[in-house]
Amino acid sequence: MNIGLVGLGIMGKPMARNMMKAGYSIKVFDIVSAAVDEIVAAGAIRGESTAEIGATCDVVITMLPNSPHVQAVVLGEGGLVTTMKSGGTVIDMSSINPSVSQEVAKGLEKIGVELLDAPVSGGEPKAIDGTLSIMVGGKKEVFDRFLPLLKTMGASVVHCGDIGAGNTTKLANQIVVALNIAALSEALLLADMAGVDPNVVFNAIRGGLAGSTVMDAKAPMMIAGNYKPGFRIDLHIKDLENALSTGHLVGAPLPLTASVMEILQNLRKDGCGSDDHSAIAKFYEKMAGKKIGRD
Ligand code: NAD
Repeated sequence: MNIGLVGLGIMGKPMARNMMKAGYSIKVFDIVSAAVDEIVAAGAIRGESTAEIGATCDVVITMLPNSPHVQAVVLGEGGLVTTMKSGGTVIDMSSINPSVSQEVAKGLEKIGVELLDAPVSGGEPKAIDGTLSIMVGGKKEVFDRFLPLLKTMGASVVHCGDIGAGNTTKLANQIVVALNIAALSEALLLADMAGVDPNVVFNAIRGGLAGSTVMDAKAPMMIAGNYKPGFRIDLHIKDLENALSTGHLVGAPLPLTASVMEILQNLRKDGCGSDDHSAIAKFYEKMAGKKIGRD
């Protein structure tokens, strides 16, 4: 199996390393040549372009920022559709709009190439450990064929349904994470302003019904005022944009998602787009004139 990987950013690089660690040989490409150099030095084969990866690989993984990047790399000029052979498979692991996954699948179908949409959750630490959660849409038989490859990157790999189901599942994940961070910001600030140490509150409630992976990861960051990403606010805006447009398409009400989106947009306007999404707390701190656990 000749495997190609296009997109060597925060996530793509460690995912490439884990596939190689499991014994797979991969050919890689990114428009940033330093990223390609780094992964070639770690043992990958240098790809010359997306088109060349398509011409020489029978399975191509993409790990790109958003829908327009995936459309360009798969369907655009010099894209995978121009060179991939019938019988091949594209596994798009980017988080994109589910309707774009369906559009990309239709374009690939014309040349006899299958698509899996397989976005991930877990961020850079879990990408490095190979313990991502991977949510997959597409034909079950294609999923079964590539399960061993996906397991080199993920601890949990779940088939969610037809094309687009992986990205719909990821949008559900991103709604829960964003709303959870906003709720945590409100709760810790309330406790602090009412005179109870937010560290004590965190430790008292984390083992109960309110406890969550989000709380364990983000409460200490908020209390310390440490907003180093992690997962950037700009990327979460992208995910909630996709969630809201999908909600409008299918008629699902998303009032809380829309509210948190306004908070994220305000933070971006204030120059916080590259902060970790736990910086949602900054919006509350600005309104209250009080920093959680500090001053
Ligand atoms: P990133 O911006 O670090 O990496 C994207 C890479 O794609 C970059 O290296 C860029 O140069 C490359 N690229 C863009 N256009 C290209 C093109 N036309 N041809 C070749 N390469 C191209 O992003 P990331 O953090 O690695 O995230 C990738 C995806 O994974 C996003 O959809 C993101 O939402 C999702 N995701 C990220 C995280 C995280 O914590 N960073 C967690 C879960 C999911």
